[in-house]
Amino acid sequence: MVKKMDMLYEGKAKKVFLTDDPDILWIEYKDDATAFDGKKKGTIMGKGELNNAISSIFFSMLKDHGIENHFVEKISDTEQLVKRTDIIMVEVIVRNIAAGGMAKRLGIPEGTPLKSTVVEFCYKSDELGDPMINDYHIAALDLATKEQVAEITDITLKVNEVLKQYLAERKVKLVDFKLEFGLFHGKVLLSDEISPDTCRFWDSETNEKLDKDRFRRDMGHVEDAYREILKRLTEKA
Ligand code: 5GP
Repeated sequence: MVKKMDMLYEGKAKKVFLTDDPDILWIEYKDDATAFDGKKKGTIMGKGELNNAISSIFFSMLKDHGIENHFVEKISDTEQLVKRTDIIMVEVIVRNIAAGGMAKRLGIPEGTPLKSTVVEFCYKSDELGDPMINDYHIAALDLATKEQVAEITDITLKVNEVLKQYLAERKVKLVDFKLEFGLFHGKVLLSDEISPDTCRFWDSETNEKLDKDRFRRDMGHVEDAYREILKRLTEKA
C-alpha cells in the first residue's frame, strides 16, 4: 500500500494527494457540490462516499470490458487510488438524448432521442465556462494531437456502448455524460470520474432524474437519487 503525501490540489469535488509512488495519486471525494462553473455551491450529504463507490464500480466494470482507465483501487469509503496522468484540457461530452446544454442551445425539447450519438469537445476552463471547441481548436491550441483525438473519440464511443447497456439492465437511461482523459507515460488513458455528478441518468420507466440536475435545478432529494443509482449498481452486480 502506498503512503499518502502532500496535497497536490483541491478541486470542486475531490482532493488530490501525492503518494510515495510517483505513478499513483490518492483521491479523496468530497460532499461539496458545485454547478454552473462553480457559481452555484452547496453540499450533498454523503456524496463523497456515494460517488467514490459509484465511480469505482463503473471504472472496474469498464476495465472488465477491455477499456483501460486510471482507476487502481478503492481504499476507503471516500478514497481511491488512481494512476497519475497529465490531464488533457478537454472535456468530452456524449449525448444519446437531448438535454441540458444541447436542448437549450438548439431549441430541442429535453428528452428528444437523438438519431445518432453526439460527441462534443469543451475546453476545460471554469473561468471561460468550458466553451465548446472542435478538433481544429484542439490542434490549433495544441491541447492534443490528431491521433490522440481519434483515440479519445474511439474510447469515448466504446464507453458509451458499454455504459448504456450496463445501465439499461439496471433500468437507467444514459442521457449524456462527460469524460476526461490524461496521458500516462505518453499514452491516452480514461481518467477523472463517472458518477451522477458527471452523467445524466433517468429512470427507464418514469424518466425521473437520478443525477446532479436535482441539485442544479433545486429539485430536492439529491442524495436519495445518488443512493438509488448505487443501489441499482450493487443490487444487480
Ligand atoms: P451539458 O452540456 O448539457 O450541461 O452537460 C452534458 C453532460 O456532461 C451532463 O451529464 C453533465 O453532467 C456533464 N458535464 C458537462 N460539463 C461538466 C462539468 O464541467 N462538470 C461536470 N461534473 N459534469 C459536466
